[in-house]
Amino acid sequence: MPHVIVIGAGQAGSSCVAKLRNGGFVGDVTLIGAEPVLPYQRPPLSKGYLMGEMPLERLFLRPEAFYTEHDIALRLNTRVTAINPTAKTVSLGDQTLHFDDLVLTTGSVPRRLPAHIGGALDGVFVVRDLADVDAMAPGFVPGARVLIVGGGYIGLEAAAVASKLGLKVTLVEQADRILQRVAAPETSDYFRALHTDHGVDLREGVGLDRLLGDHAVTGARLSDGSELDLDFVIVGVGIEPAVALAEKAELALDNGIRVDAHGRTSEPHIWAAGDCASFPYRGGRIRLESVPNAIDQAEIVAENIMGADKDYVAKPWFWSDQYDVKLQIAGLNTGYTDVVARRGDGQTASFWYYRGDTLLAVDAMNDPRSYMIGKRLIEAGQTADKITVADVNADLKALLNR
Ligand SMILES: Cc1cc2nc3c(=O)[nH]c(=O)nc-3n(C[C@H](O)[C@H](O)[C@H](O)COP(=O)(O)OP(=O)(O)OC[C@H]3O[C@@H](n4cnc5c(N)ncnc54)[C@H](O)[C@@H]3O)c2cc1C
Repeated sequence: MPHVIVIGAGQAGSSCVAKLRNGGFVGDVTLIGAEPVLPYQRPPLSKGYLMGEMPLERLFLRPEAFYTEHDIALRLNTRVTAINPTAKTVSLGDQTLHFDDLVLTTGSVPRRLPAHIGGALDGVFVVRDLADVDAMAPGFVPGARVLIVGGGYIGLEAAAVASKLGLKVTLVEQADRILQRVAAPETSDYFRALHTDHGVDLREGVGLDRLLGDHAVTGARLSDGSELDLDFVIVGVGIEPAVALAEKAELALDNGIRVDAHGRTSEPHIWAAGDCASFPYRGGRIRLESVPNAIDQAEIVAENIMGADKDYVAKPWFWSDQYDVKLQIAGLNTGYTDVVARRGDGQTASFWYYRGDTLLAVDAMNDPRSYMIGKRLIEAGQTADKITVADVNADLKALLNR
């Protein structure tokens, strides 16, 4: 019987084993995960779960019975320590398992603040795993003072939850503006206004000099010379692909584990998918950090293990929830030259990214129609007339029929 081992029981790992069984794979399937809980969805960790509005069970991607019923050996609380590509084995401390095909869905590792500026003090949290959020949640009490370091989506979502729960929130972003790495100034402006309207003390172009405190954090000194008294700190300064195992096994790396269009690494029987994998995309190579990518890529890998010979064609999309605003993003804005704004009533707005006349991406805030139409156009390789886009009274649907 062939044996497929999947390392990393997260979004991609769970999708991969489910697809193997749903696709009729009859060999052995083992899913190994370092965390002690069933595979779960991470997006609510900085949204509904942190708000206390979502019970743990609703985080789980599939009930425990799913794995038993589909004859998937689920080994939780178990870390793979080494891979031997030649012998086709993985080591779990004192045990060795043989595989015929191996899939790496190891996700990513949050960047932390260095210890010499106080990053190792108690009360300094990252937002990656359930355990991180369970550890910080008791601090979310009205009046508590929190510093959020980093104005990306994770930091902003945590700021929204904290502010809604009545905490005193300061957010610092070292770059000139929040979301600088991922969005146009228009989107940054929109979310800056949203957060300041909700009372967040948002400081851009301001870094953290150091955290203060002996064992636990009690304050911070910022690059603008100011000092804050604090109860806790949330660090949202990005992630790195989890490549340690792959690196040790001498798999090719390239901003993540390098895979071909099929999801295969530099070793023919080893595959990778999700946050940890970089793959060919439109003549270049990218790595995406999103749920849709984790699912779709992992499913293609499962199909290819079963002999499908399919390329993964990414259709990037993403979302973020902050206060009463749902942001939906279609496409990738890399290389944009201009942005067209479409502003509706209240908080409804969308920003359309172009390279010349080519539509690349859409950021839609409380505007599902712009998102849906933009996504369809981008995926079909079509563009959107800028004058129609800018005119909020023009029917966007007409763009689809050109
Ligand atoms: C707080 C938060 C909010 C997010 N919000 C959104 C959102 O709104 N929309 C969106 O699209 N995406 C969002 N994301 C991103 C999304 O959750 C990730 O892109 C997705 O989880 C990636 O799936 P993955 O399977 O590649 O990695 P993960 O889901 O991280 O799973 C990887 C697993 O591998 C395990 N592992 C690693 N090494 C080993 C080892 N050696 N042995 C055993 N196990 C190992 C890890 O413990 C982990 O459980 C969010 C992420 C976070 C953290």
